[in-house]
Amino acid sequence: MPIQIIVEKCTGCTLCIKACPFGAIQITDKKAVIDFNKCNLCGACLPACKFKAILLEKAPTVCALPDIKDYKGIWVFIEQKNGKIQSVAYELLGKAQELSKKLNCQVSGVLIGHNMDDQLDELIWHGADNIYLVEAPELANFQDEPYTNILVELVNKYKPEVFLCGATAIGRSLISRVAIKIKAGLTADCTGLDIDPAKKILLQTRPAFGGNIMATIISPNYRPQMATVRHKVMQPMTPDKHRKGKIIKESFDSALYASRTKLLDIVEEIESLVNLAEADIIVSGGRGMGGPENFKILEELAHVLGAAVGSSRAAVDAGWMPYSHQVGQTGRTVAPKIYIACGISGQIQHLVGMQSSKIIVAINKDPEAPIFKVATYGIVGDLFQIIPALTKKFKEHK
Ligand code: FAD
Repeated sequence: MPIQIIVEKCTGCTLCIKACPFGAIQITDKKAVIDFNKCNLCGACLPACKFKAILLEKAPTVCALPDIKDYKGIWVFIEQKNGKIQSVAYELLGKAQELSKKLNCQVSGVLIGHNMDDQLDELIWHGADNIYLVEAPELANFQDEPYTNILVELVNKYKPEVFLCGATAIGRSLISRVAIKIKAGLTADCTGLDIDPAKKILLQTRPAFGGNIMATIISPNYRPQMATVRHKVMQPMTPDKHRKGKIIKESFDSALYASRTKLLDIVEEIESLVNLAEADIIVSGGRGMGGPENFKILEELAHVLGAAVGSSRAAVDAGWMPYSHQVGQTGRTVAPKIYIACGISGQIQHLVGMQSSKIIVAINKDPEAPIFKVATYGIVGDLFQIIPALTKKFKEHK
């Protein structure tokens, strides 16, 4: 067995039981006994045992370091749904173009799907220098296994130095599988990407420890350096119809496209009705709204402005608004033209979800509220007076 109790040394003290996160140890006849159905060889019991009565033999994980100089270029996974390229792909191409200037390299998009030729120019105009295109009828819709297999093959063949992907439902599911297979690191949910000017490596910034700090993570030893980025955090570049790019078509043995799961149907989320991610104007309410009934005044303002209604987590946790409206670290990331925050204090977890908005208007009765630090315009006062007054004025100007 790779783990065993040295019975002569075990005193039955139970310290290992307290340390085991999997409940895999019990005491029988005053000696520790390991349940091998539960133990996953994590080793948490070893330092807990004062009597050195546990022996763990783990095969060392040998992971050869790649030859970093062989890896060149920035790749973006081009997410498509129902044959339509998703806007997060254009946002990532924009960022990749910016990074490529610092690395002096090319930007490539990787598109997997079927019958998507009419959208390739659009990718080039938005920053792709090359497009790796893998097309087949069975690849029309995303499926974990074939898409993972294809990306692994492509990465091993072309060796990109950076690989970016949207932190969407598809992106999160796909790229983590790819990272594991190619033994690369992956930084999820980045809100900032840059290049270290001296070492020429990717600086991947994301909120950590519950959003209390912004951590910058690097992957100096393995390639590609992989990161997911949330929708609406990066800006797409202004499309340039004079840009030229290269289409590189790839195809693989059909065995690579096999999947153990079968796609039966695609059902659009009801949540997408809220359409926060696409709204040009968002009117958001927080705990300062005082109760669910008061969101009516926000909805009236939103109606006049043609805006969507968002909320802070406090309002969601209180049961005043459904989760699908939540903006922030554990909700949606949005970047509308105008974000109006009403009765929201502006804690970091809320700010990371909306601070890329072009104009931020904050309405709060507390002049010291942190939301005013990011606000373009601040209105200090009672939202129950200010919101109806704004609605009235906007109605007059309609
Ligand atoms: P409060 O902080 O209570 O602020 C209410 C504000 O309303 C105050 O500034 C007050 O001055 C103002 N106010 C009160 N009455 C009035 C009035 N009549 N007129 C004008 N102003 C008034 N939060 C999110 O929003 N999104 C997230 O995704 C998110 N994720 C989180 C993840 C983690 C791991 C953790 C730990 C927290 C997360 N939070 C998130 C919670 C976050 O830390 C804050 O608790 C939350 O954002 C506070 O919401 P709020 O601003 O509505 O409430």
